[in-house]
Amino acid sequence: MKPKRWQGILVFCMIGVLLLGYGVKAGRQTEETLSYADFWQLAQQGEIASVVIGSGVTWQVTMKDGRQAITPNPRAADGKERLLRLGVDVAERENAMPALAVAALFMVLLLAFFSRGRGRGALGMEKLAAVQPDERVPAVTFSDVAVSGDTLRSMQDLVDYLRSPDQFRRYGARFPRGVLLYGPPGTGKTLLAKALAGEAHTAFFAMSGADFVQVYVGVGASRVRELFRKARKAGGGVIFIDEIDAIGKKRDNGNDEREQTLNALLTEMSGFSGQDGIVVLAATNRIDTLDPALLREGRFDRRIEIGLPDYDERLKILQVHARNKPIDDQAISMEDLARQTALFSGAQLETLLNEAAIRAFRRGGQRIESQDIEGAFCAVTVGEERPGRMTEAEKKITAYHEAGHAVVTRMMQPEARLTRLTVIPSSRGAAGYAMSVRPDQLLHTRSQLLAMICAALGGRAAEEMLLGKNDVTTGAASDLKKAREIAAAMAGDFVMGETGDADQDARLIFQTAFALTRQCLSENENALHRLARALMEKETLREEEINRAFEYQ
Ligand code: ADP
Ligand code: ZN
Repeated sequence: MKPKRWQGILVFCMIGVLLLGYGVKAGRQTEETLSYADFWQLAQQGEIASVVIGSGVTWQVTMKDGRQAITPNPRAADGKERLLRLGVDVAERENAMPALAVAALFMVLLLAFFSRGRGRGALGMEKLAAVQPDERVPAVTFSDVAVSGDTLRSMQDLVDYLRSPDQFRRYGARFPRGVLLYGPPGTGKTLLAKALAGEAHTAFFAMSGADFVQVYVGVGASRVRELFRKARKAGGGVIFIDEIDAIGKKRDNGNDEREQTLNALLTEMSGFSGQDGIVVLAATNRIDTLDPALLREGRFDRRIEIGLPDYDERLKILQVHARNKPIDDQAISMEDLARQTALFSGAQLETLLNEAAIRAFRRGGQRIESQDIEGAFCAVTVGEERPGRMTEAEKKITAYHEAGHAVVTRMMQPEARLTRLTVIPSSRGAAGYAMSVRPDQLLHTRSQLLAMICAALGGRAAEEMLLGKNDVTTGAASDLKKAREIAAAMAGDFVMGETGDADQDARLIFQTAFALTRQCLSENENALHRLARALMEKETLREEEINRAFEYQ
């Protein structure tokens, strides 16, 4: 053990002994608690000798017989005057910090000291000074966050790097710098960043983009530098910048302050050497408005979309937050609850269970029952601006729409892989989506182009099959636009034209494709129903699950 460490421990022991002495003394002084009404009665009866008032939560009272007591500080403007009129001695002093709070602070410092020392060897005293309560190692870990396995896997090398940056580099791995988490609010981005620090046993430094953007030019930039300086001083950690769009909007030449703040951030991030053990996480719900400079190599070059949770993810989130709650699991099924909460964010799910717990507590119940959940459900959904719920009917239409795209794609473009199908809206605004990957090809044959039009029309055609022609939703507008564009391109091409009139040709191609699409769907009705039903139940289907729906025709 190096001498510096001994010094540190010695100083702590001395502080501890001092505080203990103070605590004992403070404990003796405050034997009795008087209600404010009793206090005034005694004062009027002339029983009070002196009072020490201040800005603290209590006043210290000394009675004529020498007893000590405390009474709540009413924070009334004329309190002092009224006491003086009654002939009470009034002293004004800032109330000393309660012994308990001081002791707690001491414990926190002690813990921080030891946990920091563990990972990084001996610490000098100047490092101790930098450890403040808001930069502690968070208590949450990945087990408190319910996110998809993919997201966790992409976080894992960040953990490895944060735990031992030198080792990580020795193996020649390129060290990670910035990760951008994007998605709607309340989906656990902050929680995930915190859990990363907790998992890696490093400090967590958080700030919001809005905090950086100040009225005075230069303040934001100096706050950025200060934040990184703190992190370096603490020997590394996770820096989390919420609402990064506040500083990282596309440059508009109109805001010097934001420009300077953004430049400071970029400079700090390119200054990383890899030994600092610092990872920067940033969150936004609008990735499209960000300055491209932020997304470049060596900055936030890793992006993770955190979308609204699907059924499986909602179930996990509910389970995480049910862990510490006495839920009547005979009456309440988490599976049902997960099914009924489509479009809820993680934060709303957490609120739902919390509201239910409060309701159970208020009525003095032993456990959280169905009635509490139902009450909470209303409180959460009605209180929301955006109706945080997808009705069963909406879900069904979306499921058929997306399944329609998938069936037509599978039948008419067999070379394309269907990798993901979901009814959960994406951050980019689509109601649901079907994702397919097809081999890159520059030249398309006529039949390939026709198949692309059909795939685009599959959603609309499936809705028609389900609802009849007049009830289709407006969700298909962008599909139709895409189909028309391809048809127009085909018609404009001399070789492919039929009638010599481009507009008329395009219309003809479009109509042919629509007829083909309808035919394709009715020939594969079984697969369509199977896919749509699976989508209604699970909300997101991955490649193997999609393939399974096509297995028995
Ligand atoms: P964001 O930063 O994306 O707006 P937060 O991390 O602030 O969301 O989420 C708020 C709260 O909602 C969390 O503290 C947690 O209680 C709950 N929550 C949200 N998403 C999840 C999740 N995936 N797993 C567990 N809890 C979650
Ligand atoms: Zn569509």
